[in-house]
Order: sequence, then structure tokens, then C-alpha cells
Amino acid sequence: MTERYDLLVIGGGSGGLAHAQRAAEYGARAAVIEYGPLGGTCVNVGCVPKKVMWNAAHHAHGFGHAADYGFDIDVKGHDWAGLKSRRDAYIERLNGIYERNLDNKGVTYIAGSARMLDGNSVDVDGTTYKADRIVVATGGRPMVPEIPGAELGITSDGFFELVERPQRVLVAGSGYIAVELAGVFNALGSDVQLVVRKDSVLRDFDAMLGAELMGAMNHSGINLETRVIPKSVEKTEAGLVLHAEDGRSFGPVDAVLWAIGRSPNTETLDANKAGVEQDSRGFIPTDKFQQTNVESVFALGDVTGRAALTPVAIAAGRRLADRLYGGMDGRHLEYDLIPTVVFSHPTIGTIGLTEEEARAEYGDDVKVYLSGFIGMYYALGTDKQRSAMKLITTGEEERVVGCHVIGEGADEMMQGFAVAMRMGATKKDFDDTVAIHPTSSEELVTMR
Ligand code: FAD
Ligand code: NDP
Repeated sequence: MTERYDLLVIGGGSGGLAHAQRAAEYGARAAVIEYGPLGGTCVNVGCVPKKVMWNAAHHAHGFGHAADYGFDIDVKGHDWAGLKSRRDAYIERLNGIYERNLDNKGVTYIAGSARMLDGNSVDVDGTTYKADRIVVATGGRPMVPEIPGAELGITSDGFFELVERPQRVLVAGSGYIAVELAGVFNALGSDVQLVVRKDSVLRDFDAMLGAELMGAMNHSGINLETRVIPKSVEKTEAGLVLHAEDGRSFGPVDAVLWAIGRSPNTETLDANKAGVEQDSRGFIPTDKFQQTNVESVFALGDVTGRAALTPVAIAAGRRLADRLYGGMDGRHLEYDLIPTVVFSHPTIGTIGLTEEEARAEYGDDVKVYLSGFIGMYYALGTDKQRSAMKLITTGEEERVVGCHVIGEGADEMMQGFAVAMRMGATKKDFDDTVAIHPTSSEELVTMR
């Protein structure tokens, strides 16, 4: 039996759901195929449960400063298992909401594993579905290094399954997930060792951010080791030990967490049967209209290997539907000036070019403004956390092309500045904006 649709979306995560629902609003007969829980990575093993854990860690930091503000509190401990069960229940509610949303929009939900048969048909566990267009939004999954004993470690997926907090943790990696989860473990009481392969964390970001974050991590008690190339993991009586290529060993620990990047979910997709090109790592490249090399097949979100962020997948999905079904010719997502936050401790908010990128692109025509300070929140105590900001401008009019912030509140600061930068704001526009006092963000409009 073959069922026919206008649109088949493979993957019920951030991008796939956004695309199918917007297309259905325009009248397309759409179906979403999903083999896991609806909501994808973000809802089930990404942004949402991560932010819950970050919130818990944020509370722990607050308790540390409570005495400075006159509170006499005695924190008796932290109930990790209780937090996990409330977090899981919240996510289950979200899964239900996502399913009802599909129903309300008239999108068919097909539970099962999709394999492409050609550019217009997909097999889901033995049933064939056909459509004028197929959108691949299959996301990705955590990578594990190919070294002996790697399977003894967990990934971010395993982090969300932990029913109790491991006391001794080694996190290997240097990107978003490594610094975010190392920060959570540390704040909630684990002894954390963070091992990075090169000299810094967050090497894809402006260098100031990685340097400041490493300082803050050291200050908060995270044991950070650089130039560690994992060679093997060994299970000993005392715990897990990570051996590095240079002969150093780290541990014993109760948990090793790999946070070394993600691979696309294309292994079982049979995209090649539809003639869809993939790169050497399995990502599906597209043009700026999310079009693959096959006319009827589009791809969006993490599976395309570009800016792996939830709002990016959603924006790409909605814009594609606007263009294909909503009559908005030429509508597409621009991938520059995407703001992003790292939920580290302290948080990082960043948008635009790094200083290195700006100098490579504009040479001497770059002017950089820097600020470093201790926020007023820390004024009354001895445990002080630095904030740092960098504005990168170019040209005579000093157009702001990069804005990088680390410190308390950076996460909630960046969205508004992103609007200004998309509108082409100059340093003078920043200077002419009246500050909001007393805040940290006012530093961004008072830099000299
Ligand atoms: P996904 O959300 O991964 O959805 C893909 C779906 O396709 C999955 O549900 C999968 O089960 C399904 N699927 C795959 N193959 C098939 C198949 N063959 N048949 C049927 N179904 C299939 N981003 C942020 O913006 N902010 C954050 O704070 C943030 N935190 C994160 C924290 C962690 C720990 C992780 C791992 C990621 C985080 N991200 C964050 C990234 C964000 O989760 C992803 O960018 C986003 O989920 C990508 O959406 P997507 O639609 O491309 O893919
Ligand atoms: P990232 O790509 O951010 O970072 C992984 C880093 O690990 C690499 O950049 C590399 O850094 C290092 N690495 C790679 N291979 C190895 C290895 N074999 N051994 C040791 N280190 C290695 O990946 P993440 O897994 O942290 O996150 C995946 C993506 O998910 C992110 O890029 C982001 O797009 C998204 N995400 C977004 C979040 C947010 O918005 N707050 C939060 C979490 C994830 P180096 O070269 O320096 O060694």
C-alpha cells in the first residue's frame, strides 16, 4: 500500500516540525516521520533538559553568595534523582504538546524509521509513502572517539540518563557541551576534570571568550588540562582512567563524558538511493534555499552541518515552507549574524565575527573595544566573577561586526544587540543609546 502526500518530512525535531507545521498552515498535505520521541534533540536530550540542569547549577551559585546578602542558609544537599524525575515529567508533557500541535495543524504523524527509496518515496518499516517533496531533517547524535575503552564513557545522551550524580567526572572535549556540562557537574558538587585536545576551550569563538572562561573554570575549581589527546580508557578497581597519547593518565573517576562533536543521522537513511549527495562525514549539503542536489529533496537543521542550533533549524524550516508553499519567492535563511549563547558558568553571548575573522576580512580597517569588570552583584563578597566584553567594528562609520560577552546575564543580553547588528548598527548608535543602570549590559553602550 502506498500513501501520497504533498510533503514528507523525515525527522520530528526542531526543524522538521517547524517546516511541516508551517507548510500545513499554507494548505500542504504534510506528514512527519519520527522514530524517537517528538521534539528531537533539543526537547529530549538537548537545550531543554540542559537548561533545567543549568538552572539548578545557577541556584547553587546563588546559594554561594546568599550570605553576602544577609541570608543565613544551610543547604542540606541536592536531590539529583528528584530533579531528574521532574525534568523527565516536563519533557513528557512537551512530547504530548508536540503531538497535539501536529494534530491541530492537520499534519500526519508517522512513527517509525524512514529509508529513502528515491527522490519522491520513503519506506517506513515496510510501508511506502510518496510525496512531491521530501525534507530531510534527521539531526545528529553524539560522537565517541574510536579508541579502546571509549564505550566505558557516556555522552550528553547518557548525561540525561544519570539517576545519580557521579562524584568524580572527567569531561573530554572543548566545545559547547563540554563546558556546559562540566559547569553543571561542578556547580552541583562533583569533582570535575576537563581535558581539551588543544590549548583552549571554545576555539571556534573569539579568543577572549575561551581565555576568560578557562580563568573562571579554574577559579571555580574545575581542573582543566590542555593538550590531552585521548588514547584509551581503562576500568580499574578505583574507577575509570583515561590514558593520553603523551603518557599522562587522568582519573580514576566515576564517569567519563565525551563531548567531542556530533555526527549526522544519515547512516540508515539510504539518501544515496535517492541520489542525494553527502559529504565525507555524512552531512547533506544544500544551497542557500535548503535545496540538495536532487530537485525534490531538501535538507535543514543539524543534518546539513551548518550552525547546529535549534532556532537555526526552525528558521530554516519555516522560511523553506514560506517559499515553497506560501508564495514568498526568494525567502531563505541567512546564516551570518546568528546570535548564540553558551550556558557555561558564567554564560557567554556572542554574535558576528571574531577578532581574528574580522582582521582576516578587513585587515587594518578594524577597531576593537574591550571592557573587563566585576559586576555589582559580586561587590559585597570575596568570591568575585569577572565579566568581559568585546565589540569589533569596521570601516570609517565603525559598523559593529562582532559582539562578544562573557559574564553574569550574557545569555539574556545578546538577543537585543543581535537585532541592532542585523540592522547595521554602528559604534555611534551604541554610544547614542542611553544606558540602563545599574546593569552589566550598559557597558556595551559606554565603551571607549
Ligand atoms: P533534531 O532535533 O536532532 O531532530 C531530528 C529528529 O530526526 C530526531 O528526533 C531523530 O530521532 C529523527 N530521525 C533521525 N533519523 C530518522 C529516520 N531515519 N527516520 C525517522 N526519524 C529520524 N541548541 C540551541 O539552540 N540552544 C541550546 O541551548 C542547545 N543545547 C544543546 C544541548 C545539547 C546537549 C545538545 C546535544 C544540543 C543542543 N543544542 C542547542 C542543539 C540543538 O538541539 C539542535 O541544533 C537541534 O535540535 C537541531 O534540530 P534538527 O531538527 O536539525 O534535529
Ligand atoms: P562542538 O563542535 O561544539 O565541540 C566539539 C569539540 O571537541 C571540537 O570543536 C574539538 O575541539 C573537540 N574534539 C573533536 N574531536 C575530539 C577528540 N577526538 N578528542 C578530543 N576533543 C575533540 O561539539 P559539541 O559536541 O560540544 O556540540 C555539538 C553542537 O551542538 C555544537 O557545535 C552546537 O552547535 C550545538 N550545541 C549548542 C548549544 C547551545 O546553543 N548552547 C549547547 C550544546 C550544543 P578542538 O579542535 O579545540 O579540540
